[in-house]
Amino acid sequence: MLLGCIADDFTGATDLAGTIANAGLTAVQVNGVPETGLRIDPADAVVVALKSRTIEAASAVAQSLAALAWLRSQGAQRFYFKVCSTFDSTPAGNIGPVADALCEALGARLNVVTPAYPRNARTVYQGHLFVGESLLSDTGMRTHPLTPMTDSNLVRVLAAQTPRRVGLLPHAVTARGPAAVAAQLESLAADGCRHVIADAIDDAQLELLGAVLAPQWLATGGSGLAAGMAAALRTRATAAGAAATGWPSGPGVILAGSCSAATLAQIERVKDALPRLRLDPVALHRDRGAAAAALDWARARLGERPLLIYASAPPEQVAAAQAALGREQAAQVVEDALRTIAVGLAAAGARRFVVAGGETSGAVVEALGVRALAIGPEIAPGVPWTRAADGKPYALALKSGNFGGPDFFTRAFELAP
Ligand code: ADP
Repeated sequence: MLLGCIADDFTGATDLAGTIANAGLTAVQVNGVPETGLRIDPADAVVVALKSRTIEAASAVAQSLAALAWLRSQGAQRFYFKVCSTFDSTPAGNIGPVADALCEALGARLNVVTPAYPRNARTVYQGHLFVGESLLSDTGMRTHPLTPMTDSNLVRVLAAQTPRRVGLLPHAVTARGPAAVAAQLESLAADGCRHVIADAIDDAQLELLGAVLAPQWLATGGSGLAAGMAAALRTRATAAGAAATGWPSGPGVILAGSCSAATLAQIERVKDALPRLRLDPVALHRDRGAAAAALDWARARLGERPLLIYASAPPEQVAAAQAALGREQAAQVVEDALRTIAVGLAAAGARRFVVAGGETSGAVVEALGVRALAIGPEIAPGVPWTRAADGKPYALALKSGNFGGPDFFTRAFELAP
């Protein structure tokens, strides 16, 4: 494994795994701290998705160290700590405490840090983080409910989170090339710096940094620096993971729990062409046998054409269901039904699952017992086909509500590997 990554939140992990795959490495995402014995298909890069961004620092450190130990046991040769491209954190952490603990555990002398992600308009100059033309502290992040970012100077922000010294690798040095960068990092380390905020204003600089940092034990940042490192490691990539295991083929099903405008339009586009069943939360709640009946309906129709099963509804119907059952219970009955249906259809031979909705995807993946996902071809920006990388025979496309164009479902099955 060329790169073992620890991501501090779930969507950040998915973004990172997709970015690394687009850069030409095989990538697998593991959800949550891996069990000691978890075995996954080989891959160039493995991303462990934690939810450690805003939890207590001590728990974030413990989870990150557990992820690190597992990645080491799987043979990772270098490590990447993935944080948000807006550097979401507070003086209590968790970027500083986790980065310190990873350095300690790895015996890393220096940790270079940059959240720069030019594709999403995040750049770092003189240690200050910009979002588009604005300093971070002049954006909506200033009033974020959990991690308000009121200072754009990342050297100062990180220094508040660690007893270690934090230095700066400025743009002017990076502009002089890799040898100048290496010399500056050496001199910062000799000065006692443990962490170094690196300026980066475009992908070329991130590739340069990636090439300099590729031989190091540890680096920290957003998806941008990871893409730079992946580019530097590309010549050593193996197609092992992807080649070793073929893509599952077999009956497909679309399970939709997202009520976003995008998902409703996507359903509208295919609903007359596919066998379909709409789930009504109130009916599911009233009749305990309704989910089993829905499963029977679907099992009888499983075959060549994908089935469409959806609870997705326009705002007034969602509001009515929530008024009848309460917001949480309405969501819960839908998620429970989709879990039952997913598990039942998998047992009946379904192999390809397209799931619409972030929470819905989490529920379906968990119900199917899938712990690791290998990243495949991209269906829409941010939504790749994935395949279970822990021995289960499923392909999954997990779409967060707003993603994808109106033809997403058709495209998904056309592009299925
Ligand atoms: P998105 O990615 O669009 O936010 P999610 O799956 O994360 O989609 O969230 C949608 C939530 O709405 C889920 O918890 C789902 O169970 C719930 N839900 C789906 N259909 C209905 C409905 N008809 N009425 C009320 N809640 C619903």
